[in-house]
Amino acid sequence: MLDNLTQRLAKVVKTMRGEARLTESNTAEMLREVRLALLEADVALPAVREFIAKVKEKALGEEVIGSLTPGQALVGVVQRELASLMGADLGPEASQLNFATQPPAIILMAGLQGAGKTTTVGKLAKYLRETTKKKVLTVSADVYRPAAIGQLQTVTGQAGADFFPSQPTDKPVDIALAALDYAKKHHHEVLIVDTAGRLGIDQAMMDEIRAVHAAIKPIETLFVVDAMLGQDAINTAKAFSDALPLTGVVLTKLDGDSRGGAALSVRHITGKPIKFAGVAEKLDGLEAFDPSRMANRILG
Ligand code: GDP
Repeated sequence: MLDNLTQRLAKVVKTMRGEARLTESNTAEMLREVRLALLEADVALPAVREFIAKVKEKALGEEVIGSLTPGQALVGVVQRELASLMGADLGPEASQLNFATQPPAIILMAGLQGAGKTTTVGKLAKYLRETTKKKVLTVSADVYRPAAIGQLQTVTGQAGADFFPSQPTDKPVDIALAALDYAKKHHHEVLIVDTAGRLGIDQAMMDEIRAVHAAIKPIETLFVVDAMLGQDAINTAKAFSDALPLTGVVLTKLDGDSRGGAALSVRHITGKPIKFAGVAEKLDGLEAFDPSRMANRILG
C-alpha cells in the first residue's frame, strides 16, 4: 500500500538521487504530494497542516541511508509519524476499556444518529461477554426515535446480554439512573448506555447527554464516529469533545471504501485513543483498533 506514496514521491524526486539528506528544498515538493494524499483520504485540513508540520520538523536533516532515495526516506518518516499519531506509541493498552471502578463500570455512547452507536453497543456487549465473561446490561436513553429502544433490545438479545427496558415517555437522565440502580441490584459488572443522536449537532442534544453524563459518571465515554463521514468528522468530533470528557473513540464502517482520513481528524481534535474499529454490520464486526494498519490505509 505504501508503494503508492513511494511511487508518487519517486516521480517528484527523480532528479534528486544521490542527495544525502532531507532538506527544505528536496522535501518541499514531496510534502506537497503527502498533503494531497492526505486530503484525498479525506483528512480535514487543520489535521493535515499539523501533520505536515510535524513531518517536516522530523524529516529535515534526516540522513538518507544507504540505497534509499530521499523519497523512500521521507515515506519512512511519514509512515512512522502517522502511526504514532494514530496511537502506535500509546501501546496496546490504549485500546482497552477501563474497568477500574466499583461495578458496574458504566460505558456511555455518544455520537450522531447513524454513526453506529446502537450496533456498537451490541458488538461491545458480545465482545465483553465472550472475552471477559462479564455480566452486561444495556439501556437506551434514546426517547426520540421509537425504533431505537427495540433495536437495542434486539442486538442485546443477540449478544447474550441483559436489557433494561425504557419508555419513550421517560426522561433520559431518569432512564440512565434507573438502569444503574437495576444494574447494582442485579450485580451487573458493566452497564452500557446508548443515547440519542441527531442528524446534526444541536445544543439541546449536547445539554441532554451532558446531563446524563453528570448523573451516572461513566468511566468510559466513547465517541462513535462513522469513518465515511470524511472531512465533517472534525466538526462533529469538536462538538462532542467540547461537550463531554471523552475517554475514547470507536471508528465505525471501516469495511466501507473510505480511506479512513476521519481517524486522523478525530485524533487531532480529541487526542483520545481510538479504541475499537467497526468492520461489519454483524455483531462480531468489532476489532481492537490497529494504529499501524490505519496509517497504511490513510496513505493509500
Ligand atoms: P446509531 O443511530 O448511531 O445508533 O446507528 P446504528 O447503530 O443504528 O447504525 C446505523 C447503520 O450503520 C445501521 O444500518 C448499522 O447496521 C450500520 N453500521 C454500524 N456499524 C457498522 C459497521 O462497522 N460497518 C457497517 N458496514 N455498517 C455499520
